[in-house]
Amino acid sequence: MGEIMSLTGKIALVTGGSRGIGRAICQRIGSLGAHVFINYVANPAAAEESKLLIENAGGRADILCFDVADGEQVQEAIKQIVTESGSLDILVNNAGITRDGLMARMKETDWDLVLDTNLKGAFLCAKAASRGMMKKKWGRIVNITSVIGYTGNAGQINYAAAKAGLVGLTKSMAREFASRNITVNGVAPGYIVTDMTSSLSEGIQEKIKAEVPLASLGTPEDVAGAVAYLLGEDGRYVTGQVLHVNGGMYM
Ligand code: NAP
Repeated sequence: MGEIMSLTGKIALVTGGSRGIGRAICQRIGSLGAHVFINYVANPAAAEESKLLIENAGGRADILCFDVADGEQVQEAIKQIVTESGSLDILVNNAGITRDGLMARMKETDWDLVLDTNLKGAFLCAKAASRGMMKKKWGRIVNITSVIGYTGNAGQINYAAAKAGLVGLTKSMAREFASRNITVNGVAPGYIVTDMTSSLSEGIQEKIKAEVPLASLGTPEDVAGAVAYLLGEDGRYVTGQVLHVNGGMYM
């Protein structure tokens, strides 16, 4: 690992770091030397497993349970990180959920839950985290959006709206924070093998593969690599961008 990629001394928070893409991001930035705070909401055993994976690889990790959609919990958690560790340098807004259904049948509660978690959650975490970053005049924020925010998807109006919203949030935050040396970028995964996509039938998975020029689903590590690039020194002049990691399914 080149010195240039090092995140040594940085304090990072990854929301939804207990499973899937979030776990891979935690592992990657932990291996680059960051002290990783792993957030989860419902699955302590999975968060513990993420922590062990980082520690077994020689990294440093802590676990923080909070709901990203709850402003008070978010503020409290970020205050705790800054009090314990002195700062919060890196935020990865990764926590996300789906509540799929065609629009005609979609309940208002399913709309609210997905928008509150996937979009408002990123706003709340970024707002709380950016205070310290502005004072320190250094920060890195990465929002995990989705190819669905660009293409739309029948049965996912709530998810697509939240993910498209994250793109506007990313660009606007990038403009607000650039003068304080805080970069804000997005990563838009295509279809990645995680708990979120494991419920898709084999038939649907085959159909997806047929739409992907690289002819396979992606891995959480593929996404983690893109996040690491944006967080590291190599990405320092990149802000307000969305990096697509989708095997070419959307260009
Ligand atoms: P996943 O395996 O379902 O994991 C979701 C993570 O989010 C878990 O760690 C979960 O914590 C956490 N979470 C959910 N609601 C939360 C809340 N209210 N507060 C805090 N944490 C919460 O999902 P994934 O596939 O890794 O997806 C990660 C991100 O990538 C999401 O934003 C997703 O939309 C995006 N994405 C995924 C794909 C894909 O193909 N998988 C494609 C494009 C974009 P618990 O363990 O406690 O439940």
